Amino acid sequence: MLHIFRPYAHPLRAAIAVFLSIILFTLLFGSCSSEPFDPVREGKLLLGTTVNVTLYEEGPDDIFERVFDRVEQIERKMSTSKDDYDTTELLEVNRNAGIRPVRVSADTFEVIRRALEYSELTDGAFDVTIYPLVELWGIGTADARVPAEEEIQERLALVDYRKVQLDREAQTVYLPEEGMGLDVGAIAKGYAADESRRILKEAGVDSALLDFGGNIVTVGEKPNGEPWKIGIQNPEAGRGRYLGILSSGPMAVVTSGDYERYFVQDDVRYHHIISSRTGYPARPGLASVTILTDDSTEADALATALYVMGAEKGLPFVRDRDDIEAAFVTQEKEVYMTAGMESALNVSHEDYEVLPWPAGAQAAAAETR
Ligand code: AMP
Ligand code: MG
Repeated sequence: MLHIFRPYAHPLRAAIAVFLSIILFTLLFGSCSSEPFDPVREGKLLLGTTVNVTLYEEGPDDIFERVFDRVEQIERKMSTSKDDYDTTELLEVNRNAGIRPVRVSADTFEVIRRALEYSELTDGAFDVTIYPLVELWGIGTADARVPAEEEIQERLALVDYRKVQLDREAQTVYLPEEGMGLDVGAIAKGYAADESRRILKEAGVDSALLDFGGNIVTVGEKPNGEPWKIGIQNPEAGRGRYLGILSSGPMAVVTSGDYERYFVQDDVRYHHIISSRTGYPARPGLASVTILTDDSTEADALATALYVMGAEKGLPFVRDRDDIEAAFVTQEKEVYMTAGMESALNVSHEDYEVLPWPAGAQAAAAETR
């Protein structure tokens, strides 16, 4: 007898099979049934740069506004630009130097507190009291000029982060000498980027990219599960040309260099990162420093600090830190990287040469352990 296999001959069995198929179909294809989401980007001029927010998944309608409002709020509190603002919390602190402590918002207090932490950690390579010199040089403003030696020495005497007095209870900041001043330009963008990431996460956005003019923060994973890919600025070229591509999971990556804001006089480039030892733009022999970590505030502060420190001091410093990866690009177009950075950053530009970590830096690192 011919047996015909009829699995669903029984009506109940057929119903169960259909039901199971529906569940299986939903599990397999349910999450992909919607159209793939095209990334949406919005940008706004803030903190002296274009802040770009790119969403890789849908967010609340007002999400861009929420992020930009928060960044603007930070700018209004912490800017030291008298052209842009009659007053800010930072300008009030500076105007009251030698007069009285000034109460500031929790935001400003936190940024100053962390800036002081990095000032200490880097022994003044990062110095939050650099303001008198930044103001004197005016780099990036219409008043930029090479000051007289006396003026530089006069201002230099006012720069010392160890003199800043914070009162946590009263939430006040006091600069004990007239003429002292704070500048958080080397850390505030990082803080604003961290805050923006927090806002996106709290709004349920799990996939986004924040670009604060070279301060990059990723939020969650890319929807396709691939690593994020970030172009690292070639210090020689204008914005948009890359030294190489950095691929990584969630990250904050910040580059500081002498190419961002400067003027040239008698063939000398005077740029915006000032040495608190000399009072002149730092001359560490570097074109840029890139820091990769998960905290943008830290990456921002350390990129500036390590640029000032130079490769000789900077390499042993990062070598001692497991949580920070760094790339140092010298003026001779040599690139020195920590092991973690080397596996993340593919230096593709033919003018640059990746060199092994110098033996001297290893020895110095071993000594400091
Ligand atoms: P960044 O672009 O993050 O490296 O920060 C540079 C900005 O930080 C400058 O425009 C100044 O406002 C400020 N700055 C300059 N030199 C220093 C320094 N040695 N320590 C802390 N902040 C600095
Ligand atoms: Mg910085």
